[in-house]
Amino acid sequence: VKPIIYAITPTFARPVQKAELTRLSQTFLHLPNFHWIVVEDAVTKTTLVTRFLEESGLIYTHLAAMTPPNYKLGRNDPNWKKPRGVEQRNAALRWLRENLRPTDRGVVFFADDDNTYSIKLFHEMEKIQRVGVWPVGLVGGLMVEKPICDNVTSKVIGFNAVWKPDRPFPLDMAGFAINLRLLLENKDAMFSYEVQGGYQESEILSQIVTRNELEPLADCCTKVYVWHTRTEPPQLNVEQLLIKKGKRSNVGIEV
Ligand code: UDP
Ligand code: MN
Repeated sequence: VKPIIYAITPTFARPVQKAELTRLSQTFLHLPNFHWIVVEDAVTKTTLVTRFLEESGLIYTHLAAMTPPNYKLGRNDPNWKKPRGVEQRNAALRWLRENLRPTDRGVVFFADDDNTYSIKLFHEMEKIQRVGVWPVGLVGGLMVEKPICDNVTSKVIGFNAVWKPDRPFPLDMAGFAINLRLLLENKDAMFSYEVQGGYQESEILSQIVTRNELEPLADCCTKVYVWHTRTEPPQLNVEQLLIKKGKRSNVGIEV
């Protein structure tokens, strides 16, 4: 039997939120062995996300965990200034540890709400014994950031990352997944606010694996099945004017 893929998605309220979640959910609906853990960056669960998940047709767990205000990005802060998703991913890890048992077979993946995922990526994850890694498109200032996989031994012998290449694990959050067993065994492994920008992946991974235990997937890291896309904020300048006049376009209609 296939392991269950647990995808952990931090998400926050903004004009594009429902569009992002819709795109994701319609990828995930293709997978028979999928459990979505959606964690809202909010004090309490919103009606929008609650209803969205109810109607999604997916197996899911819905949580809320707000980023503490002192760690929240300001409107004009560059996005590398503070880590995003720490509170939410840790809440999801806590849920897994409180609700799953050592005999449950699963793989845990961190699926940000704005990335683009091929169904093929999830088929690759089913092979993971410890930690699987693969290329990620459009990240780190490159077309593709990837582990370098030795053809003969099928081992990871390095990384092509140019952005902060000295990180213990120089890869993106979308570039790996972890066997559930390892997360249950290493029950204190978590993300942290106290690490430099770009070190969240290294933070969690160094608590559970070594570099030479990594399992290269996607044909020895020669295929791209996930892209670090980012959604441009929509222009709502006309809406701003309408709001001032008390005539916003979305009265009684959820967008
Ligand atoms: N996120 C969040 N709260 C925030 C900002 C981001 O929960 O205040 C979520 C976001 O929805 C995404 C993840 O954290 O699922 C990573 O954020 P983002 O995509 O902005 O990061 P980047 O693409 O810059 O790595
Ligand atoms: Mn993103």
